[in-house]
Amino acid sequence: MNHRTLATIVILLLTLCPSREVLGDRKASSLFMTRALRERVLANVHQDEHAARLRDQVIRRARPWMELSDDQIWGLMFGPGITRSWMVWSDGHCPACGESVPMYNWRMDAMSRPWKTWCPHCEAEFPTNDFAAFYRSGLDPRGIFDPALADRSLLFNAAHPDPNDPLHQFGVDDGEGFVQDGKRWRFIGAYLIYGQWKQAVLGGIHALSEAYVLTGDSAYARRAGILLDRVADVYPSFDFSQQAVIYEQRLGSAGYVSVWHDACEETRELAQAYDLVFDAIAEDAPLVALLRAQAARHGLENRKQS
Ligand SMILES: [Zn+2]
Repeated sequence: MNHRTLATIVILLLTLCPSREVLGDRKASSLFMTRALRERVLANVHQDEHAARLRDQVIRRARPWMELSDDQIWGLMFGPGITRSWMVWSDGHCPACGESVPMYNWRMDAMSRPWKTWCPHCEAEFPTNDFAAFYRSGLDPRGIFDPALADRSLLFNAAHPDPNDPLHQFGVDDGEGFVQDGKRWRFIGAYLIYGQWKQAVLGGIHALSEAYVLTGDSAYARRAGILLDRVADVYPSFDFSQQAVIYEQRLGSAGYVSVWHDACEETRELAQAYDLVFDAIAEDAPLVALLRAQAARHGLENRKQS
């Protein structure tokens, strides 16, 4: 790239970006979805059938998160204490029916079937243990899962509770995979990325922030704010290169919860969602009080004073 091209790009960027005087030292208002734009969106929703249908779709999409308590919303985000895996098993099969289930073919729906994956052929669910109970038993005072704290007596196939049953340990995953005959299925490791992160956390932030813009109802913004705030607590502690595997190996690929190519887009989406709800949560004193109480209860370093 020659100097003239570089200078042109720099001038263009300076022209397009809000100046420091506009931005100030702290974010003061929504910049991409301004108040004026939101008012136009609401007017369109009232006047236009297609826009109203879109609003109704987004309200339906946001409903599962609206049915959770504030504590449940806060608890959707997790920490980096369990090895994440980009695939359950990249060239694997279902341990129940033996059919091939490679790459991204395991099914997940975090909001209706939390902590479960299922086979696309026989629909067998894994892990077979009650991972939600095991996960809760391992939460430290900060709300982060620590395997050393978790109750390992919960690690058994819930459909075969008798220790003498040959299937008692079949399909059981403590977070580091179900291991059988030297093969490892990382059900929970992959679920953390595709289920809990992409569906429950990111999916919630998307649906709630969009529902706020399309309705003007600050209840959606508040829930998006709880999730965004909790992601902000723990996001810097995620390092894909040190904590996750791809193709069953640690390849040293950069990233946060996801590997770099998804993490880049996800981080942009988080910033954009924050902008969508900023004007509402900036004025929401009960939200600040709620987050301050959570910070005190869980001993968080950031006391959430504003
Ligand atoms: Zn199967």
